[in-house]
Amino acid sequence: MLDDAAAFEEFKKRFSSEQACAEALFLARWPTGFRCPQCGHSRCYEIRTRRLPLYECSSCRRQTSIIAGTILEGSSTSLSRWFQAIYLLSQPAGISSVDLCHLIGVTYKTAWLMSHKIRHAMSAEIESLVLAGTLRIEHFEYGSVYYPDACHPLLLAGAINEQNEAEQIRIVQPSPEHIDDASRRILKEGWRACQQACTIGENVTYIQKAARSLPSMHAHKIRSRRWLNRTFCGIRAKHLQAYLNEYCFRANRISRGVCDIDSLFCRVFAQCAAVQTIPYPVLTRDKPVLQPPWRKLSSKAKWRGRWLTLRSA
Ligand SMILES: [Zn+2]
Repeated sequence: MLDDAAAFEEFKKRFSSEQACAEALFLARWPTGFRCPQCGHSRCYEIRTRRLPLYECSSCRRQTSIIAGTILEGSSTSLSRWFQAIYLLSQPAGISSVDLCHLIGVTYKTAWLMSHKIRHAMSAEIESLVLAGTLRIEHFEYGSVYYPDACHPLLLAGAINEQNEAEQIRIVQPSPEHIDDASRRILKEGWRACQQACTIGENVTYIQKAARSLPSMHAHKIRSRRWLNRTFCGIRAKHLQAYLNEYCFRANRISRGVCDIDSLFCRVFAQCAAVQTIPYPVLTRDKPVLQPPWRKLSSKAKWRGRWLTLRSA
């Protein structure tokens, strides 16, 4: 759950005070100095009587909190705990909310919300990523560890370089209306929607389920499935896209040789400081996702029975 406990202890010491965290957050938000979000003025007064620093613009008098406009906005959790959470989610293997709550000393619900907000910041980068050059879109499926047969059809899009390797990837969970309900096959509209979302490229190859996959693309299919099932014991359809974005965020950096935790932390932290937060009601509201097949088979128990029968046959 934690790759390097000594490095984490060192990190905790470095950002043990709210002051140290606030200074780092200020630099991430305004690397060239304060800018008023209302009038763009560069001079401000710092108000230190609150829990977190507040900056009052010397021109329009607007007061701006250090966490306003970041994913930390509206949170009562301390900055040092937020920093620890960002550090732990920046690890090459990521971390589940269960492990996170024990390591940073918050409730499970708080850890879950924090990790989803950090994932939201990573998703913002992935969702705006345009894959350039030769694009390959391959079909694959993700099944949870308990019900591997109840698969979610997914599309893996990769920008392929001259060595036939996927340099940058995106994994897309197709909209339910783009999936044939009976066969769970992705319709043409789903492939086209994926292409439009991922690229402006002209040279696109579509690889269906049974066709031969590129080794570098195949490796991402295996690794993403293994990561979802080992780290989180399986993810349901509702939040699956956020976890897939987290996988792609890390995979794209690692493929460019950025795999040490300090560089990953700096990138995730910069995203967290630049992206607006996602409120809890928005995060948890109903989303149009593909229903698990057991609804069609009337019960989960019946599906499980069917799967066990297939496995033992
Ligand atoms: Zn101002």
